[in-house]
Amino acid sequence: HLKDLNTLVSLSKRRGFVFQSSEIYGGLGSCWDYGPLGSILKMNVKRAWWNAMTRRADIVGLDAAILMHPTVWKASGHVDGFSDPLVDCKDCKTRFRADNTESYLTKKQCPTCGSKNLSEERNFNLMFKTHMGPVEDSGSVVYLRPETAQGHFVNFQNCQQSSRYKIPFGIAAIGKSFRNEITPGNFIFRTREFEQMEMQYFVKPGTDEGYFNEWKERRLNFYLKYGLKKENLQFKDHDKLAHYARAAVDVEYKFPMGFSELEGIHNRSDYDLSQHAKFSGKNLEYFDEAKKEKYIPYVIETAVGCDRLILAFMCDAYREEVTVETDETGKTTEDVRIVMGFHPDIAPMKVCVLPLSKKEELTGVSMQIRDQLAEEFDVTYDETASIGKRYRRQDEIGTPFCVTVDFETAQDQSVTVRHRDKMTQDRVAISQLNEYIRNGLKN
Ligand code: ATP
Repeated sequence: HLKDLNTLVSLSKRRGFVFQSSEIYGGLGSCWDYGPLGSILKMNVKRAWWNAMTRRADIVGLDAAILMHPTVWKASGHVDGFSDPLVDCKDCKTRFRADNTESYLTKKQCPTCGSKNLSEERNFNLMFKTHMGPVEDSGSVVYLRPETAQGHFVNFQNCQQSSRYKIPFGIAAIGKSFRNEITPGNFIFRTREFEQMEMQYFVKPGTDEGYFNEWKERRLNFYLKYGLKKENLQFKDHDKLAHYARAAVDVEYKFPMGFSELEGIHNRSDYDLSQHAKFSGKNLEYFDEAKKEKYIPYVIETAVGCDRLILAFMCDAYREEVTVETDETGKTTEDVRIVMGFHPDIAPMKVCVLPLSKKEELTGVSMQIRDQLAEEFDVTYDETASIGKRYRRQDEIGTPFCVTVDFETAQDQSVTVRHRDKMTQDRVAISQLNEYIRNGLKN
């Protein structure tokens, strides 16, 4: 249904999902703020991922610092190798990435003005640098992490020993990462500050291939469970592997600009732990007590951007339902219902309470019902405009249930519950309402 991202950008602003950062100052390139609904949506997405990972018997959670010892980034290869090839147009001054700009790759032309008066390619390191402490000298340089994974590697032994988990086991984390991308864009698809949800699964060498395939399947099922359509998802094997990688595949989602990476699943061999062992001088081998053997585990990594996943959920959820009505004179009118058909776990608001009129006899009891629901659910309240318009507002933010309080409510102690997708209505006793919504959200 979604033709372009602009539809989502304006819906997001209108309804409070995502705003441009520092908007009153003209915005800041590729930075976005999650609004009243977006902040809840984001928490729901993180919660879904976190539960899928850490409620397993073999994965622990971690929340590592963004700033790390600078040698971490030497060991990981980021100081020397985390760069993209950059080209400047000498005529219009556009700066672009050489390796993914179509006009440059095919015709050696600037993507903006078509000029061939271009600089040489040079490597541009994507890490943000800052200084720690009051002195800004070279000895105080620290980096904003460009990925969360290094926190998992340097805490491998801490996590393993404190949890007493045996291999195979994993570490999962959600946190901010920063990359000074040359060409950010496509709304929240590629930004310079973003959030990652990464899980590193430590396995015995030789068993890695099997676990790689297991995680591929699990991650695909996660997306299907939360409502992404099967036809919008595909695996794409990497054409070129990093020197340490044994296998790499992307889960791609069909965004309006085409199939693009949503998640990376990698078999990273023992590269990361070996590097950290070398640079730190610490022995990072795992000792298998039962078999009396020592080894450096291999790592299967699953890494998805939280913001990119939010975008995928929003793209998939968006739909326009058109109904054509003909009046007695034969004149036809078109009515468009915009629905964000979020999975109930992802939808920011689960239920909206709507008094049929603004009269005190309805609003008083409506607020009581709101409070009763709020003990369990994210609930919103709306008493302005016609009931039809209010239903539409809730459809547009994806609220699965609307509860209408009418003039019968005082007599029968019941309300009408309207379903977002089927638009069917049920009469439900107020005393049974929480249970009704709870069950409804599960189905
Ligand atoms: P890309 O090729 O799109 O730059 P990548 O292969 O460098 O991504 P990874 O390092 O594998 O990405 O990071 C894992 C995930 O983190 C990506 O699949 C993506 O969802 C997310 N991600 C990476 N860079 C960004 C960014 N600049 N903005 C938003 N999300 C990002």
